[in-house]
Amino acid sequence: MSSASKPVVTRFAPSPTGFLHIGSARTALFCWLFAKHHGGKNLLRIEDTDRARSTPESIDTILDGLTWLGLDWDNKDYNGRSYYSQYEQRDRHADVARQMVANGKAYYCYATPEELDAMRAEQKEKGLPQRYDGRWRARPASDAPAGIKPVIRLKAPQDGETTVHDAVMGRVTVQNSQLDDMILLRSDGTPTYMHAVVVDDHDMEVTHVIRGDDHLTNTFRQVQIYKAMGWDVPTFAHLPMILGPDGAKLSKRHGAPAVGDYRDRGYLPEAICNYLLRLCWSHGDDEIISREQAVEWFDLDGIGKSPARFDFAKLGSVNAHYIKQADDARLAKLAEPFIARALGRPLTMAQMDLLARAMTDLKPRAQTIADIADMAVFYFHDGALPMDDKAQKLLTPDAKAILADMAARMEKLDDFTAHAVEEACRAYAEEKGIKLGAVAQPLRAALSGSTVSPPIFGVAAILGRDETLRRVKSA
Ligand code: GLU
Repeated sequence: MSSASKPVVTRFAPSPTGFLHIGSARTALFCWLFAKHHGGKNLLRIEDTDRARSTPESIDTILDGLTWLGLDWDNKDYNGRSYYSQYEQRDRHADVARQMVANGKAYYCYATPEELDAMRAEQKEKGLPQRYDGRWRARPASDAPAGIKPVIRLKAPQDGETTVHDAVMGRVTVQNSQLDDMILLRSDGTPTYMHAVVVDDHDMEVTHVIRGDDHLTNTFRQVQIYKAMGWDVPTFAHLPMILGPDGAKLSKRHGAPAVGDYRDRGYLPEAICNYLLRLCWSHGDDEIISREQAVEWFDLDGIGKSPARFDFAKLGSVNAHYIKQADDARLAKLAEPFIARALGRPLTMAQMDLLARAMTDLKPRAQTIADIADMAVFYFHDGALPMDDKAQKLLTPDAKAILADMAARMEKLDDFTAHAVEEACRAYAEEKGIKLGAVAQPLRAALSGSTVSPPIFGVAAILGRDETLRRVKSA
């Protein structure tokens, strides 16, 4: 059966050597969407073969990040773990390498590191490419020197070419003479990355390998392993890089390289996914695309070949869109830790309730949850309200007199609603022949400590009569 007619199986295969990079999250998203679109399975494989660099903390960060983004995986039951560990398959990797020796597709190489260094030095001196020269390719087992543990090398084809029909990059070819006999199994019995990936993808019945284009050159060697084993070659789709706003490869230098950084800055997971979706994939001019639409529309033919630039402003506007749509209680819960940090204490249940009620006024003005929190902190100062300079300046003796009059009127209002407070302010302004702003601005300064705030009559209603009067009187 060719890979085209099998049920779709994708996999996301991060190496747990650090955080979950925002670029890797795009790969994870594309794998997930492709599997969902085709009613297939999306698998997670943790590539923890490099024991020196893999850490359990990194595994946790990756699992956490994927869960936060809502990119679930369909293989969750491995000896009590929720992910497939590449390291755990090491015996299988070794078996396959030995099977390849038995089939004449690979061979033991006893060259010592010193010998190989000398070989490379000589190649360098002669101006030749530095490649393993196949010195053990044809030697009989009887030549094996005692006391040296051999590596296993692929007996790679020496003539012709290896072609990859990449679903994104198109047809890519390399001359086989360019590729040397790579190591499959090291002398200590551990598999190389190149070998482990192929064995795992085969064993996991992966039909579509979707990954970053930094792996494109590895693909030729991996295809040679599939062919040596007589295994079906999966479809490859290599995704163009994500560049920073300056056109250089997206990295730490651009800030926020990790998925966790976005969570910490107050982006919503659905906004991150929507934004990442549009990096190298398009559906007409659509920018705001729901998860359901993405599943319906996503396919490999929508992926372009050119790298995408990360645009923080655009991410901000996508996030703003999703914040506007989000449920108020959810936003309040997300904003609470930010506010608690600013106040140095958590919010009470009643304050959480207030925050949720304030959300209608806060969310149209925010790009991130951090913005919401910045705007909302003033609601929760129960002592003296910090005043910014502009607010301070606004509170002239005249303005304070207006506030004192207004305090008396607000005390008497039947209903302390935004509408009632507004009407009272309007009536007062009219009576005194002043502009509404001459009443509303001092009120804003007194209630929020600033000259910018959510609509101020709403603020008064949300704070409630007692707190409003307390602030007005102490301004
Ligand atoms: N473990 C590799 C990485 O994190 C991915 C390998 C693959 O997708 O084939 O870059």
